[in-house]
Amino acid sequence: MFSKRLDRIQPSATLAMTAKAAELRSQGIDVLNFSVGEPDFNTPQNIINAAKDAMDQGFTKYTPGSGTKELKEAICTKFKRDNNLSYSTENIVVSCGGKHALYNACQVLFEHGDEVIIFSPYWVSFPDFVSVTGAKPIFVKTKPDQQYEPDFIDLLSKINKNTKGIIINSPSNPTGGVWGDEAIQRTLDLALKNDLWVFSDECYEQLVYDMKFKSIATFSSNKDKILTFQSCSKTYAMTGWRIGYTAGSPSVIKAMSKLQGQSTSCPNSIAQHAAVEALIGEQNIIAEMVTIFKKRRDLIMNGLNNINHIICDKPKGAFYVFPDISYFLNKTYKGKLINSSNDLSMLLLNEKSIVTVSGDSFGSPDNIRFSYATSDDIINKMLERLESVLSLIK
Ligand code: PLP
Repeated sequence: MFSKRLDRIQPSATLAMTAKAAELRSQGIDVLNFSVGEPDFNTPQNIINAAKDAMDQGFTKYTPGSGTKELKEAICTKFKRDNNLSYSTENIVVSCGGKHALYNACQVLFEHGDEVIIFSPYWVSFPDFVSVTGAKPIFVKTKPDQQYEPDFIDLLSKINKNTKGIIINSPSNPTGGVWGDEAIQRTLDLALKNDLWVFSDECYEQLVYDMKFKSIATFSSNKDKILTFQSCSKTYAMTGWRIGYTAGSPSVIKAMSKLQGQSTSCPNSIAQHAAVEALIGEQNIIAEMVTIFKKRRDLIMNGLNNINHIICDKPKGAFYVFPDISYFLNKTYKGKLINSSNDLSMLLLNEKSIVTVSGDSFGSPDNIRFSYATSDDIINKMLERLESVLSLIK
């Protein structure tokens, strides 16, 4: 009944767990939700005020399909200020979130017969963005103890004449890993030498803790085949507003805009107006958020490492930790076998109302993802509950 295209994709595992947490909470259960992919802060007031102004001033109609000139200019200012990248408005398309931007880019660049490299563990949506175009996702191993930088032997062996693109996501969801300069340069050199499209998903660019973030496009003087994806979602706690954007060469930006014009008409006009304020207005909120997230990262990471048999490397960015839980696999809880990280994640949910996302969903069966976009109290409570349930696994 439905097109074959639909069979090539899965429902989002992270959104499924978030829905599950909401369902349990509505039943009055004291749920500890570690599955959320969004900051637990509200959108800053100056951004909310800008949205109200937009409505009061009648900025409530269709805008140009690829975004307003005003917002594109603000994005260019932001790229120069934060990333030392010089773009003009013809290099920019605004979309309904970074997810929409990445989806559109895959649609305009990839098709049946193409292969696209994705580093594993990967954000759940990358393989599906690629598969839905008819192209094939090709997974490359990474090194958990080195911020999930690429395994270059594996990477080299996976590039062939069909390889059309490579998707990089540093800081990463689900691992929180942030690649160092050498790994970025080596990957980029390889990609450009093989004439690949380089996607750099930088939606967590501002959430970096122990180093300074460098945008991947700054590593090459030739940016023609580099697409940079950023978003207001995580940086300004604006996940529901749906504003993300892409910077790239004018021809690919034009192609994405054409597709978007026929599928979405334009991103939300009010959110675009507010995004201008987000990007070039007061930026203090970011530093405050980073300080809080860094403290929480240390709290959850140290707490996890204090639990017997959990190994948690120190992620340098985003708001996720991705501990290795492989010790507990193929063991039993009250006589029931734990076969997979999915089983363990379900056990945490059913026994202790802790909501996580299993590593299986991210192509990493030895891990579980915890989002620490939540309070210190909830983190401490979760650690206690976690230790009590894991101690019963034999
Ligand atoms: N890329 C990664 C790695 C993400 O984790 C997310 C959201 O969770 C996105 C892109 C998309 O975010 P948005 O569409 O809200 O901009």
